[in-house]
Amino acid sequence: MTDILNLTYEELEAFMTAELGEPRFRARQVWQWLWQKCARSFDEMTNVSKATRARLAEKAVITWPEVETVQKSADGTTKFLLRLADGALVETVLIPSASREGTLRITQCLSCQVGCAMGCTFCSTGTMGFERNMTMGEILGQVLVARAHLGDSRPDHPILRNLVFMGMGEPLLNLNEVMRSLRTLNDEFGLSFSPRRITVSTCGIEKGLRELGESGLAFLAVSLHAPNQEIRKRIMPKAAHWHLDDLITALESYPLKTRERVTFEYLLLGGVNDGIEHARELVRLVSRTKGKLNLIVYNPAEGDPYDAPTPERILAFEQYLWSKNITAIIRKSKGQDIKAACGQLKASELQRGTASAGADAPEA
Ligand code: SF4
Repeated sequence: MTDILNLTYEELEAFMTAELGEPRFRARQVWQWLWQKCARSFDEMTNVSKATRARLAEKAVITWPEVETVQKSADGTTKFLLRLADGALVETVLIPSASREGTLRITQCLSCQVGCAMGCTFCSTGTMGFERNMTMGEILGQVLVARAHLGDSRPDHPILRNLVFMGMGEPLLNLNEVMRSLRTLNDEFGLSFSPRRITVSTCGIEKGLRELGESGLAFLAVSLHAPNQEIRKRIMPKAAHWHLDDLITALESYPLKTRERVTFEYLLLGGVNDGIEHARELVRLVSRTKGKLNLIVYNPAEGDPYDAPTPERILAFEQYLWSKNITAIIRKSKGQDIKAACGQLKASELQRGTASAGADAPEA
């Protein structure tokens, strides 16, 4: 059986013609049902003949992730624990914000791997270890679940506005499926998300970075979190295999569109990377690129390995950056009460009902 949500448009066309003997235009109809009308069964595809629907059902399935739990934070953030077809659990988070006109907009934080191999020391997902990559159908299945949950059926004014690959997993370590997902997201007859509404966040993996940039399919965010190689090695031991200086050098020539900038994510960890000496080093790094900074304040739960930075140090850090003409915005973590904030996603059986890398998405 072919899981039809795993097929790109070209693959679906080939499947419809070669496997089912259908004309090519039939693929366009089925594609729109799958991605625009969020059909969960072939029977819903009413402009496709009954005979074709029957043939489709014989050879293919439409597999959405099953929703295990839905948790809502006091700040409106919603976290889903999803079960994939093989039983693996992943999480996705919906983060609300309001436009200037007061309209509700949602940013969705997507997972792309079950677990993560990078083992960043401040991140719950990192402690899970790596289980496997997610397929395109599983990655985009999260979007289908969100749209169904939101009743979001207006492609011209969608409530679900932005997507950020900042959930569980490192996108550049699942490059193939992430790129396939980005192409389907961009398709005007598919989910129809402009690249301006998608951000892919990486902790800095050499392989794939250039390909992502040259595709122009999403904005880039880099989880920096350290102002020098020594601290990066300590808090992000695997990411630090690619030397910080080499990462910044690669970003100096990263392909950017006019007025586009790389976003650097910087998690302020009390007493680790939040001093003025660190801000000074950070300025030197970021100034080499066309970049801006998102400062995220670490807010530990009991037993977490780091302390929160003090309000005075946060302010001094931010002010120093601005004084050196670096754009730096403090991002409030959302969904902390349901463990949906940045670095808190950790899907497991144990967390069903209390469940929990997260809700620090760029503003919509
Ligand atoms: Fe993986 Fe990102 Fe967590 Fe690091 S921060 S362990 S790359 S999910």
